[in-house]
Amino acid sequence: GFKMGIVGLPNVGKSTLFNALTKTAAAQAANFPFCTIEPNVGEVNVPDARLDKLAAIAKSASIIPTRMTFVDIAGLVKGASKGEGLGNQFLANIREVDAIAHVLRCFEDGDVTHVEGRVDPVADAEVIETELMLADLESIEKRRANLVRKLKGNDKEAQQQDRLLAMAQDVLENGQPARVVEVSDEDAKAWKMLQLLTTKPVLYVCNVAEEDAATGNAHSAAVAEMAAAQGNSHVIISARIEEEISQLEDDEAAMFLEEMGLEEPGLDRLIRAGYELLHLETYFTVGPKEARAWTIRQGTMAPQAAGVIHGDFEKGFIRAETIAYDDFVSCGGEQGAKEAGKMRAEGKAYVVKDGDVMHFLFNT
Ligand code: GDP
Repeated sequence: GFKMGIVGLPNVGKSTLFNALTKTAAAQAANFPFCTIEPNVGEVNVPDARLDKLAAIAKSASIIPTRMTFVDIAGLVKGASKGEGLGNQFLANIREVDAIAHVLRCFEDGDVTHVEGRVDPVADAEVIETELMLADLESIEKRRANLVRKLKGNDKEAQQQDRLLAMAQDVLENGQPARVVEVSDEDAKAWKMLQLLTTKPVLYVCNVAEEDAATGNAHSAAVAEMAAAQGNSHVIISARIEEEISQLEDDEAAMFLEEMGLEEPGLDRLIRAGYELLHLETYFTVGPKEARAWTIRQGTMAPQAAGVIHGDFEKGFIRAETIAYDDFVSCGGEQGAKEAGKMRAEGKAYVVKDGDVMHFLFNT
């Protein structure tokens, strides 16, 4: 599955957000910087109205959304790269995620201590990014030192690694994150394997006060500008509102949202934004027993998409019967789509499209 790491300075609302995401009180929100030692991991459903629609048409007995994993990575503070706070361990946790949800404090509240003594989300973002850049630089230096012997032996893989590490080092030493490095297609895989922290895509989560949830505020506007300049994305959320919503029944939640002037829970937007950031898509399998959503990367071909369900589906792949989401809906289901000639037989080279309803045929 895909993993998003929630990072941010202490007291910006990470635990509150994580609790709302996972609807548990397990990750206790407290006005205390280092309360979380083990990273908290939570799986969340990816909201998708299309899945409910497909299930209604096919009268599926159960609905199974696709899932995304969030990891609450607390304890990242100024000096983390030098092992301050619980620095090093948290940096290791960040290495393992696919993308970073960076929570920024965009609310004023004299009762909640800010570690830097002021509310300035853009400066906060820089504090964290600087730690990540320093951590990358340190690991690059170590790794390059370890490569020296192999380089003497004319090892091609080592040469490629060293060349890429040098490129990253160069931009980092100039105060920029490694993600600004442009990598050729041939180097793409090795580059990714380096797992540099500042190559991970970032989604800024502006945690605003309840009354600013619908509109944002000056702080979130400043973050939006920064994000756009970096080519990263941002969402505006009130972690407090999300926490309240997560404890309500669906109909109550809908009323509450309307009162707050919100069209949908911020968490839905957050999860969707994460999806976009990671270039993920969804395809569906639909039948009387269940309607289910599956996650793939954009550009995935049919056999590999089948492999998400089961390895045997990929190995023995013969072909896929495919109906586009819109056709499935407008024809009133599989039978109707078939009769209208909207069911396609697709082979191994078919690139699955977002929303496709798939049925895989395979040899066992
Ligand atoms: P973390 O250290 O980043 O995980 O932050 P927490 O989620 O524990 O939140 C720290 C404190 O800030 C808690 O007392 C929260 O209730 C409070 N807090 C979180 N979000 C908001 C918000 O939008 N407005 C206000 N006023 N307080 C908030």
